[in-house]
Amino acid sequence: MERPLTEHIRKDHRPLTLREYEQTGGYQSVRKALKEMTTASIQSVVKESNLRGRGGAGFSTGLKWSFVPMDAPKPKYLIVNADEMEPGTFKDRLLLESAPHQLIEGMIVSAFALQADTSFIFLRWAYKEAARNIRFAMQEAYDAGYLGVNILGSGFDLEMHLHTGVGRYMCGEETALLNSLEGKRATPRAKPPFPQVSGLFGKPTIVNNVETLSCIPHIINKGADWFQKLSRTSDAGTKLFGVSGKVKHPGLWELPMGITMRELLEEHAGGMQAGLKFRGALPGGASTDFLVTEHLDVKMDYASIAAAGSRLGTGTMIVLDDKTSVVGFVRNLIQFFAQESCGFCTPCREGLPWIEKILRSLEAGDGEQNDLQLLDFHTKYLGPGNTFCALAPGAMEPLQSALKYFRSDFEQYIAAELQTLAQGLPAERK
Ligand code: NAD
Repeated sequence: MERPLTEHIRKDHRPLTLREYEQTGGYQSVRKALKEMTTASIQSVVKESNLRGRGGAGFSTGLKWSFVPMDAPKPKYLIVNADEMEPGTFKDRLLLESAPHQLIEGMIVSAFALQADTSFIFLRWAYKEAARNIRFAMQEAYDAGYLGVNILGSGFDLEMHLHTGVGRYMCGEETALLNSLEGKRATPRAKPPFPQVSGLFGKPTIVNNVETLSCIPHIINKGADWFQKLSRTSDAGTKLFGVSGKVKHPGLWELPMGITMRELLEEHAGGMQAGLKFRGALPGGASTDFLVTEHLDVKMDYASIAAAGSRLGTGTMIVLDDKTSVVGFVRNLIQFFAQESCGFCTPCREGLPWIEKILRSLEAGDGEQNDLQLLDFHTKYLGPGNTFCALAPGAMEPLQSALKYFRSDFEQYIAAELQTLAQGLPAERK
C-alpha cells in the first residue's frame, strides 16, 4: 500500500533535514514544475487528479485554482490554512511537525502554478513544535535557493512567511483568517466575492489546507492517474484518517480514500476498549453528523459519507461508546462551539449558549418537557443559510443527528426529572 504523504516520516517524528529530504526525492517537483511545465499544465494535472480539499469541505482543488485570475497584477497570495482546531482533528499536526519540507515544496509548486509571489503559513498558535520545525525548514529552503528571488534560475520569485494565530477556532474560517492576517478582528466576510478573486488586502488569494498542498509534489511527480488509483473509489488519493474516543488504539493513519468505517475502527484502531460497545461516530471531526452501527460498512470518501447522511469532513473520527452519556458528549462539543463563536451574527452568538444551557440543565436533571422541541428548533434556526459562516451549522450536525439516533437518551433525562418531581408530590396528585 502506497503512503506518499507519510512514507518518509520517521518513527520518532523528527523531520528530515533538507539534505535528507532531497535524498528521498524531495524538491524534484519544484525542478520539474519550474523547468519543464507551464502554469496551465500544472493546473490541469491537479484538476485531472481530482484532488479535493482536505480541510473539511472537500471542494475540488483544481476548480478552486481555476478561479484565480492569472493576468491579475501582483501581489497575489497563497495561504496555507494550518490553523487546525476542529475538535478531534490532529492530522495536519503530523505533517507540520514531521514533514515541513513536503509542505513547503507543495507551496512552491502551487504558488508557481497560480503565479503567486507571496505565501503565508497560518499556523495554530498551540503548535509550537510545528512552528520551530517550519522555521528551520523554511530557512534551509531559502538558503538552498528554493525560496526567494529567481528560484532555481527560473525567474520565479516567492516569499514565504510563518504567521502564528491567536488560538481561536474562528481564525480557521478562510475569510476570518484573512481578516486576522490583515490585523483586523477575525470575523467572517461575505462570500462572494471568494478569496480567489478578492482575498488578502483585496488581492487574489488561494487558501488551501496543509494536507491538500502536501499532496501536490506527489501529483506533479507521478501524475493524475497514479493519484486517482491510490484510492478505492472515485474520490482520489490517500487520506490521513484519525480515530479518537474509547478505542483500543486511538491514532492517525494514511490510508486509501474509500476504506470502510469498520476497517478504520477495527483493523487500525483495534476496536472498542474492553467492556464497551460502539454506539456511533462523528466521521470527520466535531462538526459532522453521527453515523451509527448500520453505517459501519460505509466507505470513507466524500460521496459515500454524504449519501449516508454525514460528511467526511477532516476524516478524523470521534467514537461514541455505550457507557458515555450522549447528552454530555454533545454538550461538551456545543460548549466548545459556543465559546469559539466570534459573536458576529446573532443566531450563532445567542443560540449556541442557549443550547449549551438546555443541555446542561438536562444533564443536571432540571430538564423540561419542551426542551427537545427547543433543541429541534435550534438545529434548524442555526442551520445552513441562517448564519454568516459554517460554525453554527457545523455545531448543529452532531446535535441534530444525536436527536435523530439517540433521542431516547435525551428523553430519559426528562423522564428521570418527572419521576423525581412526582416523588415530591402528594399521593393524590401523582
Ligand atoms: P465551503 O464549502 O464554503 O468552502 C470550501 C472552499 O471552497 C473554500 O476555500 C471556498 O472559497 C471554496 N468555494 C466554495 N464554493 C465556492 C464557489 N462557489 N466558488 C469559488 N470557491 C468556492 O466551506 P468552508 O466554510 O470554507 O469550510 C467548512 C469546512 O471546514 C467544514 O466542512 C469543516 O469540516 C471544516 N473545518 C475544518 C477545521 C479544521 O481544523 N481542519 C476547522 C473547522 C472547520
